[in-house]
Amino acid sequence: MTWWLLGASVALLIGRSVMEFLSGRSGFTDLAFSVATALLIGSAVLNARAAGRQVERHNSETQSFSRIMQALSRSVSQDAVVQAIVNELGTAAAADHVAVVRMRPGSAVLDVTFVSMLPGASASNTVMPLRQLEPLTTQRLRELPRQLAQRDQLRLGKVINLVWRDAPPEQADPMQEPTADEATSVLRRNIRSRTTHPEAQADEEHAQEVADMIAYRLRDAYGLRNTLAAALADDQAIAGAIVLSRRTIEPWSDGAVRLLHMAASETSAALIRVHTYQTAESEARTDQLTQLPNRRYFDEYCTLLASRRRSTDRVAVLSIDVDHFKLLNDMYGHQVGDLVLRAIGGAIQAAVREEDLPARYGGEEFIVLLRNPAPGVALEIGERIRQGVRDIDLGSMGVADFVTVSVGVASGQDSAEPIGHVVERADRALYAAKRTGRDKVVEAWHEALV
Ligand code: GH3
Ligand code: MG
Ligand code: MG
Repeated sequence: MTWWLLGASVALLIGRSVMEFLSGRSGFTDLAFSVATALLIGSAVLNARAAGRQVERHNSETQSFSRIMQALSRSVSQDAVVQAIVNELGTAAAADHVAVVRMRPGSAVLDVTFVSMLPGASASNTVMPLRQLEPLTTQRLRELPRQLAQRDQLRLGKVINLVWRDAPPEQADPMQEPTADEATSVLRRNIRSRTTHPEAQADEEHAQEVADMIAYRLRDAYGLRNTLAAALADDQAIAGAIVLSRRTIEPWSDGAVRLLHMAASETSAALIRVHTYQTAESEARTDQLTQLPNRRYFDEYCTLLASRRRSTDRVAVLSIDVDHFKLLNDMYGHQVGDLVLRAIGGAIQAAVREEDLPARYGGEEFIVLLRNPAPGVALEIGERIRQGVRDIDLGSMGVADFVTVSVGVASGQDSAEPIGHVVERADRALYAAKRTGRDKVVEAWHEALV
C-alpha cells in the first residue's frame, strides 16, 4: 500500500511537470528538478529494500545456525550429530547434496555419509581409504604415514598433507622409489619447515587443503560439479570434512560459506563432546585392570535381557573364583597379583564364545553369561576356562606355580527363571567346587548341591 501511494505521488509529480513543460507554463529547470526529485525518491526506496533483504538474509542465517546448534546439543552419538546438521545445512545453503566425512578412530579409513536433499532420497554410507587422499606423486611414501599412524592415528591427516605439500620434485619421478630412510628424512624436513610457520594460520590453511582434497575425491566418486568444503577438526588434528554440492555452477553465496564454516566448527565441537561422553560411558562399564566388562555392565545387561527375553531364550551362568589367591598375593605381592588377574581375564575371554558375556564381578571373581547354550555347552566352556587358566604361563611374571580357578555352572531351567536366580545357583555350585577340592567345575543340576 505504502509503495503504491509513493509510486502514485511520484507519477503525479512527474506527470504534472511534463504537462506544464509541454504547455510552456514552466521551463526546463522545473522539469529537471522534478525528475531529480523522483530519482532521489526511487534510489532511497531501492536502498531501503536492499537493506531489508540483507537483514532478512542475516536473520535466516542466524535462525538456521541456531537450529543447527539446537539439534547438535541434543545429539549423543556421532550419527545423531551428522543427522542433526545435514538437513538444516543443506536447506539453508541451498545445496543439492551434503556429505559428512569423518576419520574412523583407530583405522585408516574415512566414513562418508552422503545425503541428497531431494525429497524422499535416503542417505548412503561408504568408506574412503585414507590413502586415496594422497596425490599420485607421493603415493609411494605411503610407508611413512602408515608407520606413524600406528603411533598417533589422529595426526595421520596432518602427516599425509605435509608430505603432499612439501615433497621435493625429485620424489615425483616414478622411476625413483624412495627408500624408507629418504622418506623419513623428507618428513623430518617437512615437519621442521612447518614449525617455522605461524602455527594457527598454517593449521587453518592446512585444514582447508585437506577439506578441499576430500571434496575433490567426492567429486570423482559421485560426479559432483560444484562443491564447497570445510574441515572438521578435533583438538589435535583434522578429523574429516563437511562438503556441500550443487548441480549448477552458480557460485556459493557468502552466507552459505559462513554458515558452512560455522556448522563445521560446531560439528567438530559436538563430535569431540560425543566422543568424550562415549569414552566416559564405556570406561564406567569396563574394568580397568582386565578390560573386561565390569559388574555394573553385567547387571545392566541382564536387566535389559530380562525385559526382552522370549519364551524360547535360555541362559546359563558360570561363576568363577580364583583359588587361594590371597596366598599368591602374599607370596608375590599385590602387583604380581594384578598381572595374574589380568592374564586370567584374558584366558576367560579366550575361552568363551562371541555371543557370551564375560565380566569381572569383583576382586578375584569373574562371571560369564551364556546365551542359548546347547545342552552340555555351559559345562564344556566352564571346563575350557578351568584348563585355560591352568595353562597360563606365569613364569614371565616371576611366579613359579600355576594358578587355578573353581567354576560353578548353572543353566536356567526355563525363560521364566530370573537371571539373578541362575546366578545364585551358579554361586552355590562354585562353593561346592571349593568345598570339594578346588580347580574343578561343578554343575548345579539340582538343589541338593547346597
Ligand atoms: P579361595 O580359594 O577360597 O577363593 O581363597 P582366596 O584366597 O582366593 O579367597 P579370599 O576371599 O580369602 O581372598 C581373595 C583375595 O583376592 C584377597 C584379595 O586381596 C585378593 N584380591 C581381590 N582383588 C584383588 C585385586 O584387584 N588385585 C589383587 N592383586 N588382589 C586382589
Ligand atoms: Mg573370592
Ligand atoms: Mg578366591
